[in-house]
Amino acid sequence: MKTITSLEDLIGIEHCKLGFYQELQQKVEQLKKSNTELEKKRKEIQAVLDGITDLMLVLSDDLRIQRVNHVFTKWFPGIDPIGKHCHEIFRQSGEKCKKCPAVRSLDLNEIVKDCRIYKVNGEYKHFDIVASPLKTGPTGERKVLIFKRDVTRDKKLQSQFNQAEKMATVGALAAGVAHEINNPLAAISGFAEGLQRRIRKIKDDIDPEIAEDFTEYTETILKECIRCRDIVQTLLTFSRPIAATLSPININGCVNDTLFILKHHFKKQRNVTLVTELAPDLPLIMGDESQLKQVIINLFSNAYDATEDGGEVRVETRPGAKGGVELVVSDTGCGIAKEHLDKLFEPFFTTKRVGKGVGIGLSTCYSIVNNHNGEITVSSEQGKGASFKVFLPGTEL
Ligand code: ADP
Repeated sequence: MKTITSLEDLIGIEHCKLGFYQELQQKVEQLKKSNTELEKKRKEIQAVLDGITDLMLVLSDDLRIQRVNHVFTKWFPGIDPIGKHCHEIFRQSGEKCKKCPAVRSLDLNEIVKDCRIYKVNGEYKHFDIVASPLKTGPTGERKVLIFKRDVTRDKKLQSQFNQAEKMATVGALAAGVAHEINNPLAAISGFAEGLQRRIRKIKDDIDPEIAEDFTEYTETILKECIRCRDIVQTLLTFSRPIAATLSPININGCVNDTLFILKHHFKKQRNVTLVTELAPDLPLIMGDESQLKQVIINLFSNAYDATEDGGEVRVETRPGAKGGVELVVSDTGCGIAKEHLDKLFEPFFTTKRVGKGVGIGLSTCYSIVNNHNGEITVSSEQGKGASFKVFLPGTEL
């Protein structure tokens, strides 16, 4: 049977449609609003993440990198880490690291803290690492969030502080001992000289062989006394303030004066090439000329001692940071064992044979440079040579 659509029916349908569209429009408005809110929140979270200066990464349970923050690109420019194992990226190794903090955190399901050393941009750096297991999602996937903080600078400052403390303690002790030794030393050399005078008087009345022995023994006593006196004098540098003798100094002048004397002395003995590269127009520094010359002598003598015939000792000066200057003494000699690097500046540390080294050259350099508010550092690879760098601040500091 044919039904006829009445006007009321049509109005009813349109009315329904209108209601539906109005509802739809309201929903669209709500969605737009919550999208804007979400975008605002996303930007806020992103800003917080961008503000984090530690390297952050998320690892899967097989240690593949899933996410990294912006710090990664700064540390490893041009490397895409996603999907790669973390040990491939950080250690260039196909093997998991021993006692890996990420693995331990996943196994224990708790936060694990550790510190490690990696090479980043060709430089070894210290990192504090925190690994936190991520709460597993509905799929039960296990992940771990890693934070790596570069603490290289803190470590360096800490070790400088420790070194300064150690030097202050040992230095004060050494200076105290030196002071105490001065009096008996003066007595020994005084009596040795007295004996010499008496031997000269009775020389003709005694057996010539005995007279000769006495002369030789007293000469040796005096020679050794002079050596001890020199050591004592050097040790006293540890506690001696230098403020009174500071004046504006051209470091190149110091280097030239010192090398002029040393060059002739050393050249006679062995075939070691001396190369000097002194930067012109260096800023003046405030210093004690004789003490700075002592630093150059000590560094140069060590470099020379370490270098074989045919090797090279290089003395360089160049402008340093903050209007200061840098003095570098390097050699192609035997180099320094890794385990000795920490001990070099300690008084009485020596690897030279008895009679050849006392172990106060570098500790004296350290004290002098420290008294000039400067810094002395060493880098060395065993078998390839060593390089000592002295930084001295400029006059404006
Ligand atoms: P000494 O020269 O009396 O041993 P120093 O304090 O000057 O005392 O040096 C301490 C030690 O540091 C040396 O015995 C040596 O082992 C090491 N050393 C210093 N300079 C160098 C160098 N240029 N190359 C290799 N080793 C060095």
